[in-house]
Amino acid sequence: MPAVPGASQEEIRRQNLGAVLRYVHLHGPTSRAELTSRLGLNRSTIGALAADLVASGLVTEEAPTTARRAGRPSLVVSPRSDRVYAHALSIDADRLRAARIGLGGRILDLREVARPGGMTAVDAVGPLADLVRDMERSVAADALLVGGAVAVTDTTCEADGRIRIAGVDETLGVALEAEFAVGPGFVAGDLADIAGLAEHVRGVAAGIDDLIYLHGDLGISAGIIVDGRLVIGHRGHSGKVGHMVVNPNGLPCGCGSRGCWETEIGEAALLRHAGRDPGDRAAVAEVLRAAADGDRTAREAVEQVADWLGFGVANLVNVVNPDAVVFGGSLRDIFIAGADTVRSRLGAMPLPGSREHLRLEAAALGRDAVLIGAAELAFDKLLADPLNVGVAGQLSADDQA
Ligand SMILES: [Zn+2]
Repeated sequence: MPAVPGASQEEIRRQNLGAVLRYVHLHGPTSRAELTSRLGLNRSTIGALAADLVASGLVTEEAPTTARRAGRPSLVVSPRSDRVYAHALSIDADRLRAARIGLGGRILDLREVARPGGMTAVDAVGPLADLVRDMERSVAADALLVGGAVAVTDTTCEADGRIRIAGVDETLGVALEAEFAVGPGFVAGDLADIAGLAEHVRGVAAGIDDLIYLHGDLGISAGIIVDGRLVIGHRGHSGKVGHMVVNPNGLPCGCGSRGCWETEIGEAALLRHAGRDPGDRAAVAEVLRAAADGDRTAREAVEQVADWLGFGVANLVNVVNPDAVVFGGSLRDIFIAGADTVRSRLGAMPLPGSREHLRLEAAALGRDAVLIGAAELAFDKLLADPLNVGVAGQLSADDQA
């Protein structure tokens, strides 16, 4: 690991501690020998860093269960997933979820409740805090909470029926602060951004630094990662690709505009083309199943939506020039059902330099992506400086009562 010019010995040590911890967090149990070669540090340095992380209660070190060679085997460094954890919350279109996720990305506990129609993201914070308090009752006394993050779905219907971009709203920050005042900090982010981050770190796009993650639920939103970093925009409102106008003669959109992309590729569009109630989300799976079984109306509905999907993605790849586009949420199933149509658009429309290397992928992490991504955000501070998070603090006694 190259040292920052002018960094002190102590700064370099902290940087290296972070590198070791991040490696085992992402790759799981790793031998000292492998850490030595992967991180480009010498054996004695890795040994000292691992010992420090053991002393901090962040990792364990054990002899491997099966030694492959004669001689002293290299100790295996493992993240303490059972002890070190983050709170990962998600405000989905129709449910609220809270998880405790251990270092290494392991889901230790998961609770969820329905999100009633019309409930704003801010109103959801109270019920989420209840789920968190409930989970905390079964946490061991020596467990270490390092922080939390909440993912908020793109679209929230307010009382006037208008769609608001709920993203990273100030009022949401205030509500989180009020509920988790004594605990470690909470980060809020857009659901598509966070699910995209999860696919980038642990999912189908692991190792790909330029990608577009497209998420479908009630609306359509994108998490865009360029050069390994999420594109956030002013107050986290970037990636609202569902409101990119693709059809000026199209239908009115909940945002107040007309012919937005999500009016052509959203769940409601699929249901409308299939002759179903556009508000009946449960019927999306039925339409996709009917299409797979050869039902002509359902098949045509899928083709129509897939064509618009390819059309919009072609525009996006011309703008962003990613290495991969990942389809998640309900768009995952729509992409799989209409992949040939999407691919034929992508094979023809974008500029050659934007399409020749492009991979189209179905998301790999399923509905857990959002929680796993939220935990990654929450672990960030620990991984940047492992020694500085030992006193992150727990929920206050009052909160746990
Ligand atoms: Zn719109």
